[in-house]
Amino acid sequence: MTASSVPAGSAAPVDTGVLVIGAGVAGLLAAHRLVDAGHRVIVVDKGRGVGGRLATRRMGEGVFDHGAQFFTSSDPAFAAEVARWEAAGAARLWFDTRLEADGSTVPDGHPRWRGTTGMTAIAKHLAVGLDVRTSTRLASLEVVADGSGGGWRALVEDGTELRAGALVLTPPVPQTLDLLAAGGVELDLAQHAELAAVTYHPCLAVMALLDGPSGLPEPGALRPGGEPVDWVADNQRKGISPVPAITVHAGPTTSHVLWDAPDEEVISTLLAAVPGLAAAPVAGGVQVQRWRYARPDVGLEGSTRKISGVPPAVLAGDVFDGARVPGAAASGWAAAELLLSMI
Ligand SMILES: Cc1cc2nc3c(=O)[nH]c(=O)nc-3n(C[C@H](O)[C@H](O)[C@H](O)COP(=O)(O)OP(=O)(O)OC[C@H]3O[C@@H](n4cnc5c(N)ncnc54)[C@H](O)[C@@H]3O)c2cc1C
Repeated sequence: MTASSVPAGSAAPVDTGVLVIGAGVAGLLAAHRLVDAGHRVIVVDKGRGVGGRLATRRMGEGVFDHGAQFFTSSDPAFAAEVARWEAAGAARLWFDTRLEADGSTVPDGHPRWRGTTGMTAIAKHLAVGLDVRTSTRLASLEVVADGSGGGWRALVEDGTELRAGALVLTPPVPQTLDLLAAGGVELDLAQHAELAAVTYHPCLAVMALLDGPSGLPEPGALRPGGEPVDWVADNQRKGISPVPAITVHAGPTTSHVLWDAPDEEVISTLLAAVPGLAAAPVAGGVQVQRWRYARPDVGLEGSTRKISGVPPAVLAGDVFDGARVPGAAASGWAAAELLLSMI
């Protein structure tokens, strides 16, 4: 990573060949492929750090993965990428069993991977060597129509401006549509209809420091797979937290129903529903994260999409290829290849 934010108030717009919006797994892998092909690339992200939904947070002594929990590697190209992450010390095997709803496990030979120090370790590893600008929230994307050679103008919320010949767009699709609409970009009607139909499940995540071991069975995770609790992980047993610290994910219906509820209600509902929890939360050691766009409900066919009728711009992310980390990776690569055929 070479920069932390776009300089506020700088007069001249920053110019790049390709602007990648989003430093999640899709954006970072797309950026690498484009840089390897010789293009100037800037990656921007509104978050304070990289990773997007590969998200790790500290609270007191505790370390919590509160977005993606693990990833599989059955696709050969992705497995080769994961092997590179493992060799670099960024990823580690967590477990290789299927978690059943009743708490039992069934060996299935498929490795489930985690980031070595949490899921963001992977994104931090991928950001090395790229020009990534965090804390840079775009407000709009406009087509440049001032006779200066075309391309895109991206306005950052603080008023600074970036110019790019081409875009890779990896935010959840509703956020991408908002950015284009804010810049007055009118999509072709059929494409707009296809993209506007994409919806996502929300997910409420509760992170709790515990006053003792969680009592969760091997491998330190439970997948009730329903409502109110979809998933529970013991971050200490996972190997990323030095102290007992659990992450609880609500199921999609519970997340919808409790979306606007006070944190206390979300916390008490979810913690009370964790099967066999053997410890209590530490006072002041509980937080809630609301993921509005956790996973696509209705995704899109294929691996990427060109935006029609505008300067080069492609969509990538987990809306394609199966709504998970491996799919986001495959989509990032596919988007870069598609863009390379256009620029
Ligand atoms: C609670 C939860 C649990 C999950 N569990 C798993 C799991 O166990 N296994 C699995 O494989 N997957 C899981 N997933 C899904 C997985 O996290 C995603 O599929 C994957 O991380 C998506 O990567 P991405 O690059 O497509 O998108 P993201 O990681 O969402 O990246 C998009 C980026 O765009 C940025 N952005 C958006 N708008 C702007 C803007 N205006 N300006 C600048 N930047 C912007 C965002 O900050 C974000 O960083 C889970 C997700 C959640 C939320």
